[in-house]
Amino acid sequence: MDKFIPNSYYENIYSINYDALKKKKIKCIMFDLDNTLALIDEGIPPEKVIKFMKNLNKSFDTYIISNNNRKRIEKFCRHFDSEFVAFALKPLSKGFRQIQKMKKYRVEEMCIIGDQLMTDIFGGNRFGCYTILVDPLGKKDLKVTTLNRFLENRILKKLSKRGILERGKYYE
Ligand SMILES: [Mg+2]
Repeated sequence: MDKFIPNSYYENIYSINYDALKKKKIKCIMFDLDNTLALIDEGIPPEKVIKFMKNLNKSFDTYIISNNNRKRIEKFCRHFDSEFVAFALKPLSKGFRQIQKMKKYRVEEMCIIGDQLMTDIFGGNRFGCYTILVDPLGKKDLKVTTLNRFLENRILKKLSKRGILERGKYYE
């Protein structure tokens, strides 16, 4: 159960305390795409996201790590300079390891930001990096996510009963 608990929980990517990540010596920030950076049907990033990513790229190495297909990710990332891994198979470590190898990061220097407990948070915790949960941007998910959301809700119920993690109760 511990592997489903994120190190931090914020409302969205904009409310995250990136200075705190700098202080933790994080160099590599990996973003999930769907419902973290944009809605699933936003093929092109909103202007706000482009600005945000370009600015963040000055302080961190940023990556997109997504289970979605290459065409979707490539088209999205073209608007800002982030490398990406498509078909990442989160929660497996494969995609995380691929990014780690790009600049020989230590696992402690890496952070994943995502909206799903079953893939982003569970995967990141298994891999051993810093994990940040954000609320999903939209209610609409990819079909493959339906089962994950069902399991996520069950886990959230248990964690919330124990006072560990509750929707809307953000922590740094
Ligand atoms: Mg997502």
